[in-house]
Amino acid sequence: MCLTCGCAAPHDHLHAVSDQRPTQETIDVLGRLLDANDHEAAHNRDHFDARGVLAINLMSSPGAGKTRLLEATIDALAGRYRIAVIEGDLETENDAQRIRAKGVPAVQITTGTACHLDAHMVHSALHVVDLDHLDLLFIENVGNLVCPASFDLGHHLNVTLLSVTEGADKPAKYPVMFRAADLLLLTKTDLLGAIDDFDPQAAVGHFRALANPAPVLQLSARRGESLTPWIEWLDSQLARQRSGERLRPYMQSDGRTRHAAAA
Ligand code: MG
Repeated sequence: MCLTCGCAAPHDHLHAVSDQRPTQETIDVLGRLLDANDHEAAHNRDHFDARGVLAINLMSSPGAGKTRLLEATIDALAGRYRIAVIEGDLETENDAQRIRAKGVPAVQITTGTACHLDAHMVHSALHVVDLDHLDLLFIENVGNLVCPASFDLGHHLNVTLLSVTEGADKPAKYPVMFRAADLLLLTKTDLLGAIDDFDPQAAVGHFRALANPAPVLQLSARRGESLTPWIEWLDSQLARQRSGERLRPYMQSDGRTRHAAAA
């Protein structure tokens, strides 16, 4: 249970089995926490924009392949960009060690009980990231399809992963996460031949039902050639950032939808 995002607060749908309702005080405290987070996020984004760094927030359920995708992406880019990674997990340094083994600097944030990263955590990590000599910053959020989508980190774009070992109806079940996606990656597609209950078109249909126009790409980190469209997407987004377009996530943390190029 997350102690910082309000997950523990009782909600209206529980009213039938509980008399507990969020008090005005609880609502006010959560509102102030989100306001403070958005303020810090804007500060982080100013740092990125001032240096032409593109910051990408990777989100998915645990095990969808975020770290594996980063390893494969580092290999595929073959040194074309200067990369750093911020890793978020409740415990362990495991993922940061995997990234460092690829020769890329990585900072591990261990969140303890928190089910998501927030802008303050990212800001602390930035103290040990050399933004002056960086092109791409990947932020691997805590594996969770709920809370990470509600916290602006100061990043520019959300990339959401859905692996073929999950249900194709995940976008319908977790709409906040998938509405926030600037790009949807269907991952582990090398397993499609062994899995008969995941229909990629059905997954895309559930995603489009959320009225999110973001592109959808299919790839497998085990098949380097399948990463080409993803690498081309990264190329194009970095070019936009460097052109001064001031990229912003399609979905803001307050739930308002904005197109990514809003000034
Ligand atoms: Mg990971």
